[in-house]
Amino acid sequence: MRSFEHFNARTMEEAVAILGRYGDRARVIAGGTDLLGKLKDEILPKYPEALVNIKSISGMDYIREDNDVLKIGALTRLEDIAVHPAVKQHFGALAEAAGRAASPHLREMGTLAGNICQDIRCWYYRYPNNRFPCLRKGGGRCYAIEGDNRYHSIFGGTVDDGCYAVHPSDTAPALIALDAVVRTTKRTIPLEDFFDVKVSATTVLDPDEIVTEFEIPQSPGKAGSHFIKFALRKTIDFAVVNCAAMILIEERKVASARVCLNAVAVKPYRAVKAEQAIIGQELNESTAEAAGESAISQATPLKDNGYMVQLAKIIVKRTILACA
Ligand SMILES: Cc1cc2nc3c(=O)[nH]c(=O)nc-3n(C[C@H](O)[C@H](O)[C@H](O)COP(=O)(O)OP(=O)(O)OC[C@H]3O[C@@H](n4cnc5c(N)ncnc54)[C@H](O)[C@@H]3O)c2cc1C
Ligand code: SF4
Repeated sequence: MRSFEHFNARTMEEAVAILGRYGDRARVIAGGTDLLGKLKDEILPKYPEALVNIKSISGMDYIREDNDVLKIGALTRLEDIAVHPAVKQHFGALAEAAGRAASPHLREMGTLAGNICQDIRCWYYRYPNNRFPCLRKGGGRCYAIEGDNRYHSIFGGTVDDGCYAVHPSDTAPALIALDAVVRTTKRTIPLEDFFDVKVSATTVLDPDEIVTEFEIPQSPGKAGSHFIKFALRKTIDFAVVNCAAMILIEERKVASARVCLNAVAVKPYRAVKAEQAIIGQELNESTAEAAGESAISQATPLKDNGYMVQLAKIIVKRTILACA
């Protein structure tokens, strides 16, 4: 690990001012569960000159219901979200997603903002000492295209269409299914528009912009929401495919639906065709199966990841049925 300046910010204004001074040479640190691993392994060509610790700012970890909105502070730890009674009762998909992320230790350290801002897990990108200076690091080629791409995107790539690394977050699809927005030091962004595919970045955030809060509207009527994750191991493993859905049934028919997959595309993938397939229908084995088929209708798998298409289809079907 190389040396860097470390600032314990006392206020959000101070944190933003330090970031402004350093530009893209500084990083925010929250739980550190993703960032410190990257620094130890020296995976990126540019090493940050400064880390701005925001855990030293008080009052940024909370979960509270405010009229019809659930508010969650950016520094709220995943474990606190997973066990919170109101989250479990009214926002099941988020509690389940937070509870399935990583391991107990990591959930005690990792924050919700850190979870959606975490970096990609492509094994070429993550290889220590910047061994593979690929497109996503500003280099000239993608090593996964001809290499081992069994955990890469089944819905195409980007950064000029060359990077096929998937977004790894478990909570992101749940927040999108629940129609959440994220507040930052500059603006309010629907979660669905929060993600980007840039050199060494996965979000639309500016270098001096910090996530401060999440807002999730109370689900309409008696909408049910669920999250399902397929990983090779039951704990401490990233999703091969995950899915969250929120579905409202009125008079036995689907009145509204939001379905989001992750780990299958370069950004969380809203399965709009699956939603369209069930709206106005009764929810049963056959309509859920049709939704699964629709979800993967635009998949274009790579040479090693065709199996993920079948997994995505089944997980969409099961997640939708779990919401009934
Ligand atoms: C072994 C292992 C297994 C894991 N398994 C999973 C898994 O199964 N599912 C999953 O979803 N994740 C997993 N993770 C990823 C991740 O560590 C956690 O999900 C965690 O939530 C990240 O939060 P953090 O607070 O520790 O982030 P940090 O490491 O502190 O930060 C991560 C990134 O987010 C930025 N950031 C943090 N907070 C803010 C903010 N408020 N505003 C702007 N930028 C911010 C940082 O600058 C950094 O770029 C795993 C990590 C490890 C090491
Ligand atoms: S998939 Fe993306 S991160 Fe992985 S090697 Fe290719 S360009 Fe790099």
